Amino acid sequence: MPVRAWFPTLVYDAPLLAGGRGELNRRLLEECLKIRDVDKEGRRWSRREYPGGFTSYASMHQLHRTSPTFGELERHLRRHVRAYAHALDFDLTGRKLEMTDCWVNVMGRHAVHGLHLHPISTLSGTYYVKTPRGSPALKLEDPRLPSFMAAPPRRAAPRAENRTFVSYPARAGNVILFESWLRHEVAPNRSKAERVSVSFNWNWF
Ligand code: FE
Repeated sequence: MPVRAWFPTLVYDAPLLAGGRGELNRRLLEECLKIRDVDKEGRRWSRREYPGGFTSYASMHQLHRTSPTFGELERHLRRHVRAYAHALDFDLTGRKLEMTDCWVNVMGRHAVHGLHLHPISTLSGTYYVKTPRGSPALKLEDPRLPSFMAAPPRRAAPRAENRTFVSYPARAGNVILFESWLRHEVAPNRSKAERVSVSFNWNWF
């Protein structure tokens, strides 16, 4: 076929550590739940904006600066961010990608994370801490969707690169990275068990 795919959207997905989830994951889980206990402002914000869940997004969102455990997560993430930036062919001469924000998400039953992107940021992503069976996936949207004005619908099972949405299952111990302009969402958690994750932004300016 004389057809080539251009302008791809690159998404990174890998285990944070080579040797399994380990000790760091256990400490992260403990701290995520502790943060929910102490972050009164975050609980108040979540009641309004994140029913059924807790997020420290609007209150404690620089956890890598205040907690050695989250600092350790940041150190481990560096390798992945570097590999992803390399795959994207970013020229960062004289610059550095730095983690600017890092926050906790706990999705209880019926909690949902509607379609959004992360403004004023370069790379975003999530590390999954606890993902009980039935935990909803991360769903990514084709960024060109608003341009498809007169396009016919796609076949039921299109080629991977022609899909309009793609879902990444949430797997404890895994890290997902994407460019911050990519719209994404998490469907409602139908399970009673809590899905715990840490999200972050990285910036080059
Ligand atoms: Fe997000």
